[in-house]
Amino acid sequence: MNPANAWRLGLREFVGELLHELDPRAELVALVDAQSDNFGLQVNTPDDVGKMFLVSKRLVEDAPVDPIALKALCLYLRSEVLHQQTRRTVNEARERRSTLRGPPGQCEVCGDSFRSYERVVVRRARIVHVRCLHREPPP
Ligand SMILES: [Zn+2]
Repeated sequence: MNPANAWRLGLREFVGELLHELDPRAELVALVDAQSDNFGLQVNTPDDVGKMFLVSKRLVEDAPVDPIALKALCLYLRSEVLHQQTRRTVNEARERRSTLRGPPGQCEVCGDSFRSYERVVVRRARIVHVRCLHREPPP
């Protein structure tokens, strides 16, 4: 095997283990040559397929022997894992919100059904949209 490939395999294993220590569920699925002096890294978690992100080759190559490079690489990996967790949480919140139903019934001013994201108010024993509060009901 080409020594460069052996070195790359070792590096990939190293980054994979680092990632595993940060989050055992996360998996390094790619470490490839990218534009200029960067590696493209891709991390997947059970909830998300990550996008490729770039990290300086020098930083990745120095990480096994340089504590500062190691710390920086850990920060890159951790922020990618956090980013994916955040994305998942936002998606879950969106899904939950889309299944939420608004208050039952219709606005007594405009006659439209209430939607979950609309603000409503009770005024004189009638439920109306906040936006309809100062409009007169139809005669
Ligand atoms: Zn209304």
